[in-house]
Amino acid sequence: MQLYSDVRYLKGIGEARAKLLEKLDIRTVYDLISYFPRAYEDRSIIRDLCEIGDGETACVRALVVSTPVLSRIRKGLSLTRFRIADDTGSAEVTFFNQPYVKNNLRVGSHYSFYGRFQRAGSRLSLQNPTFERSGEEGKTTGRIVPVYRLTAGISQNTLINSIRQGLDVCLGELQDLLPAETIRRCGLQEIRQAYRCIHMPSDMGEAMRARERLVFEELFVLACALGSMKNRRRSEAGHVIPVPALEEFTGCLSFTLTGAQTKAIRESLADMASGHSMNRLVQGDVGSGKTMVAAACIWAVCRSGLQAAFMAPTELLADQHFHTFSRLLEPMGIRVVQLKSSMSAKQKRDAVEKLALGEADLAVGTHALLSEGVEFPNLALAVTDEQHRFGVGQRSALAAKTSAPHVLVMSATPIPRTLALILYGDLDVSVIDELPPGRQKVDTYAVDESMRPRIQRFIARLVEEGRQVYVVCPMIEEDEEGTLDFHSAQEVYDQLRSDVFPQYRLGLLHGKMKTAEKEAVMAAFVSGEIQILVSTTVVEVGVDVPNAALMVVENADRFGLSQLHQLRGRVGRGKHKSYCVLFKGKGGGISAERLDALVKESDGFRISEEDLKLRGPGDFFGSRQHGLPTLHIADLSASLDVLKEAQAEAAALLAEDPSLSRHPALRRRVESIFQNAETG
Ligand code: ADP
Ligand code: MG
Repeated sequence: MQLYSDVRYLKGIGEARAKLLEKLDIRTVYDLISYFPRAYEDRSIIRDLCEIGDGETACVRALVVSTPVLSRIRKGLSLTRFRIADDTGSAEVTFFNQPYVKNNLRVGSHYSFYGRFQRAGSRLSLQNPTFERSGEEGKTTGRIVPVYRLTAGISQNTLINSIRQGLDVCLGELQDLLPAETIRRCGLQEIRQAYRCIHMPSDMGEAMRARERLVFEELFVLACALGSMKNRRRSEAGHVIPVPALEEFTGCLSFTLTGAQTKAIRESLADMASGHSMNRLVQGDVGSGKTMVAAACIWAVCRSGLQAAFMAPTELLADQHFHTFSRLLEPMGIRVVQLKSSMSAKQKRDAVEKLALGEADLAVGTHALLSEGVEFPNLALAVTDEQHRFGVGQRSALAAKTSAPHVLVMSATPIPRTLALILYGDLDVSVIDELPPGRQKVDTYAVDESMRPRIQRFIARLVEEGRQVYVVCPMIEEDEEGTLDFHSAQEVYDQLRSDVFPQYRLGLLHGKMKTAEKEAVMAAFVSGEIQILVSTTVVEVGVDVPNAALMVVENADRFGLSQLHQLRGRVGRGKHKSYCVLFKGKGGGISAERLDALVKESDGFRISEEDLKLRGPGDFFGSRQHGLPTLHIADLSASLDVLKEAQAEAAALLAEDPSLSRHPALRRRVESIFQNAETG
């Protein structure tokens, strides 16, 4: 029997059970012993019968004082009854439909019983307890017992027994992935001890230490994987872009860059001058001015005679950036072209030709930039905006257009630090933690139905003043119960248009519309033709409509906090005082208190930390598309300190043994992470 043998080789696990275990992702003995408990029950404390109250779950050591009697009540129902006693009292024990227990219990013998008691006055009773003979305790009573996540047909006892067996036969084969030095420095348990203690702790402290060690290992391995990916990229030679005098660039702006913008720009320029390829993430809240960081890098690259590409997730954003960059960079002598799928074949051909001939310096576009046939003979910089909307594959696809261009990724999703360290662990990070001066806080209100008439008057007032308004409704999942309580975008639109605001120009935007229709509606909103835009969450991330001064969200409890913060970021982008109104809805989603947190908090990072706690890391992007391995034991909302320590240790190890050639077991594990991440 070996660590990677099929679980079928274990006693008590046949074809049928093996199939069930597969549902828990358990195939090998190693999978089995790596199936960690989700909780523990402390059955190590032996209680006196006299002190046990109604409803308490407890472990007792008692004498069987009456012969177990089996009575068959009717077909399908049998009872086995007897009394037990200790020095302090007695209780009646009943087993339902377990006739065999009669043979396993002897009157006059001591046993440990564990179960839930009921008490009525002095009458104490216990139903279907687990029990072990006195002196033979240690599996299900008299100790701390692990509790595993189950699947139908697999009981706790089956798991406990098979895992024990697995540990008995294979524990000796487990190799420690952590260097001895790290184990010592961080005061961690050794791997075999950790596996034993996580499944069979002798006290809760031991279980905690085992967990700590295994969390550490998981994060350490991940940090090694990301770290070596980063090293690999860093060692690739990159185009050397001399650092230009930044004043030339800033002199062309109508505003002064913030300190945070300048810092991010300097960091990026230094990367590009280093001789190695840049791989940098610029992270900043909505409206923090990330585009200027990209612009400065593009400027530096293009003025040295090389090409840059800027990829946005939607056509609308691509349009907007195309205009921004043309207006800013053309006067500096940089030739900008656009490339998107909705252009005519001729327009596309023109743009592609200019790029190929080196007659264009910057291409701004969508995925179309990745199409075959689009060639950049001198591509030195690839920028992707709102990166979370792109798959990890696309991030590298643009980079793959030529050998090792510099890569700049911009993200407005304020990712909690823990998650960012992992998600972007292969990138260097610049944080823009400062908004341009004069930005006003968006006043936010969480309100209930009774406020609707007032809000409608408020909408009218703003529209009369010339402002524009968003009304966002949650996406409807058709088979979900309670759907009728939702304000679907179509309903809200119909009602507002015919009953409430017949005098205004309204627009509707939802996911089922064709791309061209959506673009047309959005363009009409951007141009001011539409005054009130009713939409689902398809409201484009990052679109700039400075005249929009009010964001109304229906059934706000149906959104994640970060999503609400993003939506709120659609307003307050111009000189007008802006507002966000959150209709609380009927509840069932995030609570009113959480909405209140949003009312008080305007810092996207703190909101995202809160969101992570609420929704868990797996769901953070609404999907699992980021291509990272699933964490089995590390909980990212809690383990920031451990993560940092694990990263520091990983960095130290990689500095000393970059290819991990002296740590073959660790190296194999790291490679398996790459494989999974790249197909993920
Ligand atoms: P985001 O980080 O969300 O991409 P943008 O780059 O779109 O933010 O910037 C938001 C708005 O702020 C734009 O209209 C931009 O021109 C303006 N802006 C950017 N930097 C500054 C600055 N330093 N001072 C004043 N306005 C700025
Ligand atoms: Mg932006």
